[in-house]
Amino acid sequence: MIKKILVAGFVLLCSCSHNDDFTPVFDVPAEFQPYVDSFEAAAAERGYHIMVNNLIIAYDASVSNTYCAVSNTTSAENSIQKIIYINPDIHCWQNSRQLETLLFHEMGHCILGRAHDTALLPNGDAKSIMYPDDISLYAPCAYPLGDTCNQLYTRDYYLDELFNPATPVPDWAK
Ligand SMILES: [Zn+2]
Repeated sequence: MIKKILVAGFVLLCSCSHNDDFTPVFDVPAEFQPYVDSFEAAAAERGYHIMVNNLIIAYDASVSNTYCAVSNTTSAENSIQKIIYINPDIHCWQNSRQLETLLFHEMGHCILGRAHDTALLPNGDAKSIMYPDDISLYAPCAYPLGDTCNQLYTRDYYLDELFNPATPVPDWAK
């Protein structure tokens, strides 16, 4: 019996040390670091403890010109290196909110393991920040022509939904 337990323990040790072979790299340019910080802060505000220590963000000219950025995985598993490639050839974002939306969407893929979600809210707006290719979900006005274009009031909902897809429909979308 003791021998069996020892063997089981040895097998467990081996499988653990095998996983330890992977050492994640964190390499995020200073211009993007504030958004990784605010992703962690937004998670913490909602009761989720997420430390992003496995992430490379890099400009890469091989990103298809139909995309602002791509993530190399849609898995929350921490066993592979997570990489977000930013397209250097198109200027995708016009303000910090759009850049935040872009990076939160990509971290939704590679940190939270979320896939695209094309569902719509009852008012026709996207249900999720995981809607493909929309970085203006909760952006402020591109030009200061009054405030009716300002969507910032929807940001709280989209961040709630990012960390919890079961978030109820907000009043503004009914
Ligand atoms: Zn995507």
